[in-house]
Amino acid sequence: MLSRKAESSEGILIRAFRRAARSAFLWPEQAADLAASGRPLTELHGVGPFIAEQLRAWIEKPPFDEMKPPPLRRDFLTRADARAILVKNPEWSERLRGDLQMHTQWSDGSASILEMAQAAKERGYEYIAITDHSKGLKIAGGIDEKALARQALEIAEANAAMRQHGVTVLRSIEMNLNPRGEGDMDRKSLARLDFVLGGFHSALRTKEDQTERYLAALRNPDVQILGHPRGRVYNYRIGLKADWTRVFAEAARLDKAVEIDSYPDRQDLNLSLLKVARKAGVRISLGTDSHHAHQLDFIELGLAAALKARIPADRIVNFMDLAALKLWVRKLRRRPA
Ligand SMILES: [Zn+2]
Repeated sequence: MLSRKAESSEGILIRAFRRAARSAFLWPEQAADLAASGRPLTELHGVGPFIAEQLRAWIEKPPFDEMKPPPLRRDFLTRADARAILVKNPEWSERLRGDLQMHTQWSDGSASILEMAQAAKERGYEYIAITDHSKGLKIAGGIDEKALARQALEIAEANAAMRQHGVTVLRSIEMNLNPRGEGDMDRKSLARLDFVLGGFHSALRTKEDQTERYLAALRNPDVQILGHPRGRVYNYRIGLKADWTRVFAEAARLDKAVEIDSYPDRQDLNLSLLKVARKAGVRISLGTDSHHAHQLDFIELGLAAALKARIPADRIVNFMDLAALKLWVRKLRRRPA
């Protein structure tokens, strides 16, 4: 509703509503619940008196005919939604061992590797994977093979410091894939990583069916996890089209994983595709795509989506302990292409 209001507003109100819409993803409670308990809506981040008044009007008299979001904004959870889903099944969140996508100062993130590891420790994680961008994605400060080798030293230092806390920092990369599913890094340097997350960052607005692109990416022997598969972004880009039944069936056949990128305005895979993924029996990896240490919180969105889609626990990569995770990757690397 806030996004829609931004579209019909003028002047500074456009930004005010747009900003409130983005903040609304992370409100810890539903605005309606807050209002019902008599608390001021201005407690919510990004809500001043003016926005609060608008929210109150919607709560009092919901404009039902305007409430269905357009495709660009459909099938996104808010943090409040996620918490409502997760609270009904606390064992689900307790199974989580770690987070498999995050960025650091090595590419476009704001924290050091050690800071990310410390945040992981606070969350009780067993492991995290550092997935800075690869060299082809210059706009995001992508790193080359030499930088990746230097990063290994910093990861080793972080691991030495974190060992007493039981947190392991895994070496990975978000490797940029071209539309033919090919990566941009030397295979030998990829083989030294704990696993490789592949992701598309180009030609994401094409309207044609992209099934072949996905099949090629999954068959790329260097890639174990396909990150943010659709490439959608809230209110900005709808994402790619494909025959998802075929894509997930191939991922399942190859025993590779597809990701739920839990960044609020990505949420990619989304709920409706996760239901297709469940039927294929494909492995699901959860990553926050964090660019700041506090963003590790976003994992709630991915956990809730997987739970709501009824993905079996044994299909979630991050529910494996470290030894099982490593064994899975080792087996994939030994498989003939
Ligand atoms: Zn990416």
